[in-house]
Amino acid sequence: MSSEDITETTSWNSHDQPIHLSGSIQPHGLLLALDTELDIWQVSNNTEKYLDKQPQELLGQRLGCLLATQQVAAIKQCLEKKIGSVTTLKIPIATVNGERYFDGIAHRTTNAIILELEPRDSDDEVSFLGFHGLVSEAIANLQNTSNLEEFLHLVASEYRKITAFDRVMVYQFDEQGAGSVVAEVKREELPPYLGLHYPATDIPEPARQLYMQCLLRFIPNFTAQPVELISQNSADTTPVDLSWSVLRSVDPCCVAYHQNMGAAAILVIALIKNQQLWGLISCHHQTPKYLTYEVRKICEFLGQIVSLELGHKVIHSELDYEVKLKSLQSEFVELISQADNFIDALVKPQPSLLALVSATGAAVCLDNEITLVGETPDIEQVRSLIAWVDNQVSQRIFATDSLPKLYPEAIQYKNTASGLLLLRISQIQRYYILWFRPEVLQTVNWAGNPNASIQTNADGSVILCPRTSFEQWQETVQLTSLPWKQCEIDNALTLKNAIVGIVLSKAEELAKINQELERSNRELASFAYAASHDLKEPLRGIYNFSTILIEDYAAVLDEDGLDYLQTVLALSVRMETLINSLLRLSQLGQTQLHLTLTNLNELVNQVIDVINASRQEAQINVHIPRPLPTVQCDSVLINEVFSNLIINALKYNDKPEALIEIGFISQQESPNIRKNTSYPVFYVKDNSIGIHEHHYQTIFRLFKRLHSQEKYGGGTGAGLAISKKIVELHSGQIWVESSVGIGSTFYFTLGQ
Ligand code: ADP
Repeated sequence: MSSEDITETTSWNSHDQPIHLSGSIQPHGLLLALDTELDIWQVSNNTEKYLDKQPQELLGQRLGCLLATQQVAAIKQCLEKKIGSVTTLKIPIATVNGERYFDGIAHRTTNAIILELEPRDSDDEVSFLGFHGLVSEAIANLQNTSNLEEFLHLVASEYRKITAFDRVMVYQFDEQGAGSVVAEVKREELPPYLGLHYPATDIPEPARQLYMQCLLRFIPNFTAQPVELISQNSADTTPVDLSWSVLRSVDPCCVAYHQNMGAAAILVIALIKNQQLWGLISCHHQTPKYLTYEVRKICEFLGQIVSLELGHKVIHSELDYEVKLKSLQSEFVELISQADNFIDALVKPQPSLLALVSATGAAVCLDNEITLVGETPDIEQVRSLIAWVDNQVSQRIFATDSLPKLYPEAIQYKNTASGLLLLRISQIQRYYILWFRPEVLQTVNWAGNPNASIQTNADGSVILCPRTSFEQWQETVQLTSLPWKQCEIDNALTLKNAIVGIVLSKAEELAKINQELERSNRELASFAYAASHDLKEPLRGIYNFSTILIEDYAAVLDEDGLDYLQTVLALSVRMETLINSLLRLSQLGQTQLHLTLTNLNELVNQVIDVINASRQEAQINVHIPRPLPTVQCDSVLINEVFSNLIINALKYNDKPEALIEIGFISQQESPNIRKNTSYPVFYVKDNSIGIHEHHYQTIFRLFKRLHSQEKYGGGTGAGLAISKKIVELHSGQIWVESSVGIGSTFYFTLGQ
């Protein structure tokens, strides 16, 4: 990148003039500034060398004293043209040493016509065929390339062929104006600059504007002494506007910069895409090197062709990248949609979640569960970042290339996550995918000599030189990652839609399975109901006939026979209780809840009264530490639950006195209560024999008893299964905590 632009647009020369008003030119030609009458108003102080005439001999003269009428007329036409519109013509001028030939380049400024003359040999003209040969081969080659990289490399090599410069580079600017060398062809022994980055300040906005106007800048010899412009009247200090001048002199700072880089001559051609400066073709030569005006024009023309072709190539290469991302995307989505556990598949290495958006790290977060892939901050840092995101970011997709500037905690892990692309998969749940990119400083190779140099004017003012601006830029790009491209953001959004689609179809599958399960549950319940109902009748028959046998035929039976009959009778009674339990459970499966506001205090007291009424032993003593609340429930069924639990507390008790406590705990009072629920947790606590931990689940199964028939009053093992069913019908849960020998506490809720 040329520091010419820095100095020409941001600094002032030693006369405190902007450089385009420097009043001097490079010495490989001469300049005449003409007024609107075409009188010579200013000339460069080198006319003697080219025209064998002192400047004073020319100043104030008509242009006709040098040029033929025809040429004067052609130059006069500049007055009718736009500012900066160039007229070129070959000009022979008679001098005392014979006729000399020049390339004449004329254009108008606001107050003058500038005629620049570059000497040429009479026969060094590139013929049209020569020109065509040079350009057409280059164009054909360029058109045959398929990708941008190859195209730019070829551009560099075609330019090297035409100019024979030591090094030809193609620079590309990024959105912030920083540039990088994207193609280079050079003499083998020179150090490579390919891949190097340059700060945006190397070419500030005004310089870009200038390149949009004049597509080419040529400096054949940095060591050459500039030549001053001289005015007819020494009191006349009106500067000549040299913005469009091809000979405009070079700022000393720019000279030093290029000499530091080892360049003695440069040729720079602008590359324009969509009316914007896309980049530059920059040719450097280690020794002074002159190119004729015609060859420079060929270079400029080819630059315009390259600019045109560039548009297509850039679009193609962007498309290529998008296509690549899309194909990765579909491969990825296919994989996760087929996986049993698509969350696991998300973080599998191949094809990678990272490649979908060209990230270096990612975190998949499903509520509190976080899985990290690639280079990322640690889990706790990701957790805090998500907490910040929850508060600060409402969009479903969010991208930043400077996270630490928004969220200072991220400075700690700038090396992994200066860039963040966040995808919110669910608005309801905290489901996120976060992609990370490292700080760009980690990935950029800086150009040039790192020893910054500041030039100070005599008055103490500072001239920005390339290395100074380089440092400034370095600071501004700290904590910044490479930017996220729109196609990458779009890819992330598509992934979200795919994931939602997969989750929905999985949910549909699950719903189908649930439906199926519900149907077979219903069938099973009605089968159990029918079976138990139908079994009751023959059972009743067995019971009745056994009773008749005992009553009417006891006399004809011996003692054993009678015993057997008694057993048949007892077994049929037991079987009836079992069938009744089964019937009750299957009925529950088909029961519709009748929810009413129920005062549980009253309900529990009723249960106690009923139990007391059926007891011959001492009345039971139930402690209720505080009044129970009024809740929505099916009072008949909840009555059954309390009844089962209290009876069990009495039954499975070997203490002299059964102590029972019934109460409730709210979530606020005891946030650590085992089940996470906002409903009150009811409990029935006793001083029973207790239950071993490994039976905590089994006791809720149908017909599961921990004791033989004879012990603890003998139950069917259905009470807790029925209680569980009732609680679940209320969408609640039931569980037990117990200490063997000390007592048990049964907990249940009536909602989730
Ligand atoms: P059953 O109707 O036979 O009492 P349950 O389903 O009510 O059957 O109880 C299942 C088993 O759980 C019982 O056999 C008993 O061993 C145990 N159990 C139930 N409640 C208690 C309790 N409060 N204390 C100790 N063990 C209990």
